[in-house]
Amino acid sequence: MGFALLLICLTLVGTVPASGDEITSAAHMTLADAENDKEPAPFYEVLAKALKKRKTRIDNICPTSDVVARRILEDYGAMFLAKKVSPPPRCIFTNEEQVTRFQEDAGFTSLLIGFDEVELQPEAMKQLVKAREEAQKEALDITPRDGAEAARRNYEDSVRLWNSRFSPALDYWLAQGRLNVEQVTRLQSLPLQQQVAEVLELEKSGIYFSKDLSKSILYSIAAPGTSQHIAMLAFDVNEFENPRVREIMAKHGWFQTVLSDLPHFTFLGLKEKDLPKNGLRGVEVNGQTFWIPNV
Ligand SMILES: [Zn+2]
Repeated sequence: MGFALLLICLTLVGTVPASGDEITSAAHMTLADAENDKEPAPFYEVLAKALKKRKTRIDNICPTSDVVARRILEDYGAMFLAKKVSPPPRCIFTNEEQVTRFQEDAGFTSLLIGFDEVELQPEAMKQLVKAREEAQKEALDITPRDGAEAARRNYEDSVRLWNSRFSPALDYWLAQGRLNVEQVTRLQSLPLQQQVAEVLELEKSGIYFSKDLSKSILYSIAAPGTSQHIAMLAFDVNEFENPRVREIMAKHGWFQTVLSDLPHFTFLGLKEKDLPKNGLRGVEVNGQTFWIPNV
């Protein structure tokens, strides 16, 4: 095995063109090729510029010293680059009052889809409506998953959803003997932000808190106060498995940006071809492309 690998490595080394060849082939590249081949821009650089325009800094929204905030920024941070909307002023909201103030300032509009009233920031809603119209012309549809919760959520919703993953996982790991009663009681009594920090720490040793207990809870549900749904820039789509539906969503600025959260779309208000220069890189999983921060 080791020998085979060595052989492959040697073969690869053998095929790397000499620097002279590289220069020649680069000269033949068209401008468009150069654009397509470009590495995605570094997320933190693009974010710093975007925040400067909004007269703020990364440390104001997500302090470097806060490990949880940083993790959240790198997992859900695409929304901070969204155009024509108001991204949240912080990575983590810590109470309902903060969320209410932000949501009132940003503003939102509502739409009745079937029996569900969903709410989003105005530009995000405008583009969702256009996407739905386009889908319906092709006899497709774009509908909310799990009712009104598919779009705007408040702080309390995010805490309830966190507990819907956190509590059953505690029971499971207790039964498995990976956690003891003392640890479980302690985890339950921790202030929320510390609870999140400790859950992420436990996950490093394979004690996962997602719904299926196989991956990080953050790929299953947002940490309390951090959801893109609180930002009113997310919409969970029933028809996410249809490639044409994903294409139509993308055409109107809506993209999958959270790895493993398949029905979840984020409004970025950008063209797909412009995502790399906006600090996002495309990761393909089972034929679906997720645009995540390039960190
Ligand atoms: Zn979602």
